[in-house]
Amino acid sequence: MARYTGAVCKLCRREGKKLFLKGDRCYTGKCSVDRRTYAPGQHGQSRKKNSEYGLQLRAKQQARRFYGIQEGQFHKYFLMAERQVGMTGENLLRLCESRLDNVVYSLGWASSRAQARQLVTHGHFKVNGHKVNIPSYLLKSGDELTIKEKSRESEKFKAVLESNASKPVPEWLELDSQALKAKVLDLPSREQVSAPVEEHFIVEFYSK
Ligand code: SF4
Repeated sequence: MARYTGAVCKLCRREGKKLFLKGDRCYTGKCSVDRRTYAPGQHGQSRKKNSEYGLQLRAKQQARRFYGIQEGQFHKYFLMAERQVGMTGENLLRLCESRLDNVVYSLGWASSRAQARQLVTHGHFKVNGHKVNIPSYLLKSGDELTIKEKSRESEKFKAVLESNASKPVPEWLELDSQALKAKVLDLPSREQVSAPVEEHFIVEFYSK
């Protein structure tokens, strides 16, 4: 399935909640979810009652859209999560959180997950001293990240770092903002995952 390239605010309005897909704008009064509280399209304002299947589908779509993951890859994560010890839903969210693009965004090294994905693809980061340009690369406890020397000099990069300097970093990550180095201390617990989804619906969706 091709990557969605339309207006991302429509995705939030469709889900009826903020998915934070547009960086700084999401925290201002310009956010479309705050201004228009109904779904996009001709029938967006008609009242709808979600069926059980509808709730499961929406939860799955919300998680996919929040992390910017395509259907095939997301299903693959679900199968991996099922094979792991523990709760499948929590394992699934932990896998999504441990993606390199999500970690780059969480560290404030990009303004949105979409921008993080692009910066990773352009090869601006190193993991344990080696260049990694795969956004879906899964990090594990103890992995160390750095921004490449040459990239640090880029004016665009400096502007991104400056605009996100005050952003709080999740507890499961350690950031040295002077040296532009970071470390994955541990993979996140459910309480440390910020995704606004009810993961049990996703498990039910794929378990049919
Ligand atoms: Fe748009 Fe961000 Fe608001 Fe979503 S949260 S509607 S992406 S401004």
